Amino acid sequence: MSSPSSSSSAADLLLVDADVVTLDPALPRASAVAVARGVVVDVGGDEVAERWRGARTEVLPLGGAALTPGWVDGHSHPVGSLAMSAGADLTGVRTLAELRGRLARLARESTDGWVQGWGLVPDVFPGGVPRADLVDDVLGGALCLLRMADAHSSLASTSLLRAAGIDGPRRFASTAEVVCDDAPGGPRPTGFLLEWDAMALADRHAPSAPDAELRTRLRSLLDDMAVQGLVGAHVMDGDAASLDLLDRLEGDGDLPLRLRVAPFCMPGVDDDGVAELVAWQERTGRRWRVAGVKLMIDGTVDGGTAWLDHPDANGESTGSYWRDPQAYARVVRALDAAGVPTVTHAIGDGGVRFVLDVLEPLGPPAPLDGPPGRRAAHRLEHLETLPDDLVTRIGRSGVTASMQPTHCSHFVAADGSDNWSVRLGPERAGRGWRIRDLLGAGALVVLGSDWPVAHYDARAIMAAAQLRRPVEDDDAPPVGPDQAISAATALTGYTRAPALAAGDAARGVVRVGAAADLTAVGVDPTSAPPADLAAAPVVLTVVGGTPVHRTA
Ligand SMILES: [Zn+2]
Repeated sequence: MSSPSSSSSAADLLLVDADVVTLDPALPRASAVAVARGVVVDVGGDEVAERWRGARTEVLPLGGAALTPGWVDGHSHPVGSLAMSAGADLTGVRTLAELRGRLARLARESTDGWVQGWGLVPDVFPGGVPRADLVDDVLGGALCLLRMADAHSSLASTSLLRAAGIDGPRRFASTAEVVCDDAPGGPRPTGFLLEWDAMALADRHAPSAPDAELRTRLRSLLDDMAVQGLVGAHVMDGDAASLDLLDRLEGDGDLPLRLRVAPFCMPGVDDDGVAELVAWQERTGRRWRVAGVKLMIDGTVDGGTAWLDHPDANGESTGSYWRDPQAYARVVRALDAAGVPTVTHAIGDGGVRFVLDVLEPLGPPAPLDGPPGRRAAHRLEHLETLPDDLVTRIGRSGVTASMQPTHCSHFVAADGSDNWSVRLGPERAGRGWRIRDLLGAGALVVLGSDWPVAHYDARAIMAAAQLRRPVEDDDAPPVGPDQAISAATALTGYTRAPALAAGDAARGVVRVGAAADLTAVGVDPTSAPPADLAAAPVVLTVVGGTPVHRTA
């Protein structure tokens, strides 16, 4: 023990004076953690510091802050959000008059003849149906593209429709739709573009930011995620361009958090497309990797594009996003056979039912020490309205359930007056976001934000999962309060659950041998009142044993 710095028993990082919430049943609480070479090498009390302190050990006293396994956002679109969040932030706009005022100002200030905005809720428009002719006259001729808050639809101004040559209905491999009115001369687009293929018709005309700007914006977004305590995110989109962007960004320096990317697989994909998605599974950087493929079986309730067992109040949401759902089933089986875990956006009960029919026969993932094969369970994202039988089936199937508590708390009103509730009607709206029931049925439930659909602050999301209302609004009545979960379960949904969902048992827990991805926050997230957690500072974020954020 003459030279601790060269001894194998010196830690690179010692976290002391902490309230360590380990999530390890063998040692639930501790006060110190030693880290070497990116891995937790000791957990315990004062003796840990004595045992592991070396000449080059960085010692960080945490002043009694809670230290937990690092928080992982189970559903996020950090790269996709760069395009999805182009232009003005319209998330706070609540009335048509307000929107028209904002657009008029943006048009006056525009230097390139474009107005772009994002995060707009459909309730701003009469009947919740966006229409270009309600905003055209304030644009002063500017081309305007507004991305809706659900990230599944957009509104193009009549000037943009004209410039993009969008002059009538289109047929896609998906059920995406150029929404049209019946006009005397034939169907005429209203400007509302529903789902990916239709949105892309306008998207490709919008000015895209230069690469340097994209890198700067993505870097600062990821930096802020780390500042908010995230050590990782499951990225629910991706294509060749976004994977290349991650490559270039990591060329500038280490990413501040880990990204596990599931690239998109869209309807109309052919065998070569599936082969490419399988080949991409080998792509990995230092802190990002491709793992899985993201598919969508339906759209959204708000947009009338979900797949419900029975139509909504407008007679919509009746089918799959795939014109041929059996093509989806074939693709999923091909990916499964190639060892690729799939992630399927499934919002309506009909869509969930169909996907479970496809996934159940595929069985559980292969054991880590077994022959090559799929290592993680298939996943379902969103699960917004579920009858009892589907809750039971998800629990029994071993399919991971991925839920976004703030979609419920922030976009739905407890009195059922919002577009989502009205479309579904009280019975189905009453079966919304059944997080507690899914857990009770034995499902692994991963929590996340769906950024940029909702904010990625994990503290507010863990709080909303407990409150079923926005933590910042004490007066809001809770939505489905019987589905509230405990503080400890919410923390698990941000830590152990995403690790297990990724087939990675060495994460999401603080114990010897676990990856040193850690988050320290001012209050104990398993016992603090939700509002206190939401207001508590994140004092430290550690990724792979390296502090990526710390307060002064
Ligand atoms: Zn998403």
